[in-house]
Amino acid sequence: MSKDFFSLEKPTFSFEIFPPKGEGNLKTVYDTVDALASLSPDLISVTYGAGGSSRENTAVIASDIQTKYNVPALAHLTCISSTKEEMDEILKELKEKGVENILAMRGDVTDTAKVGDFKHANELVSYIKANYDFRVFAACYPEKHTEAYSMAEDLRYLKQKVDAGADALITQLFFDNEVFYNFMDKVRGVGIDVPVIAGIMPITAASQLERMVSMCGASIPKEIQQFVKAYGHNSMAMKEAGIAYATKQIIDLLANGVDGIHIYTMNKPEVAKRIVENLRGILYALKVKRA
Ligand code: FAD
Repeated sequence: MSKDFFSLEKPTFSFEIFPPKGEGNLKTVYDTVDALASLSPDLISVTYGAGGSSRENTAVIASDIQTKYNVPALAHLTCISSTKEEMDEILKELKEKGVENILAMRGDVTDTAKVGDFKHANELVSYIKANYDFRVFAACYPEKHTEAYSMAEDLRYLKQKVDAGADALITQLFFDNEVFYNFMDKVRGVGIDVPVIAGIMPITAASQLERMVSMCGASIPKEIQQFVKAYGHNSMAMKEAGIAYATKQIIDLLANGVDGIHIYTMNKPEVAKRIVENLRGILYALKVKRA
């Protein structure tokens, strides 16, 4: 029986992985899970079709994390092109497989996506809460969602998602902690009081930064621009700079009382491991009562 994520003291420390495309690469993802589980995280999340990764394997991998590794698992789930019947099928499978936590999202709208029964994430959150017994997480955006006209509008819908039953929020990646602190003031200001877990992506290659920025529009502090310019052509130096920046970002977040840290590992456990090693003393001190 694994821990209940919601009974843990804050700050929590967790990781995101993505399932591979096709059966062939499943072993690689289990190597990643092995390495991450050995770092004793409070939760590991598994994406659903993000960045072209497979959807089929999300439930199986999340189930194994929860039941075989005894680490709380969070299965991502998107609803935009699904009918209620299709959602029921997936939700029943997750329940049967022992998964207890779901990150309920709309998903990206594409020209080719078929229209389903859910228009926005709040509808999926309500549906899950009304019909199933899961802990539900939802996504939030410190620099607002790219489709939202304004932060005020995005926050209004975020509040609706929480009022629909979201138990916790995980942020889109951000590189500037001030952006996060401003966002948190606004989140608490509109009356959202659930835990908000900060999503941190270590940037270990220049190409990764370009891809991420074009996908989610995160602003890039001058410090990152400078080290990418200086070290972008040198993979080893770039990796070290990315690890150091993420470590520094997390230390500052912990010092400012963040509810939790969620590392987007990009299935690179060695990077996550280096960050955890850098933080070991602080994490131990903060969680000493939990040990
Ligand atoms: P919503 O909450 O529905 O919001 C989308 C937009 O609609 C926003 O602009 C919002 O302001 C607006 N809006 C919200 N509710 C309403 C409403 N009721 N009426 C009108 N407008 C509304 N994608 C994947 O495909 N797979 C993944 O595994 C995945 N994991 C992610 C993990 C995290 C932590 C984050 C932050 C994102 C992830 N995504 C993933 C991306 C996500 O699917 C996209 O950002 C998607 O475009 C929005 O999903 P959402 O649940 O935030 O949508």
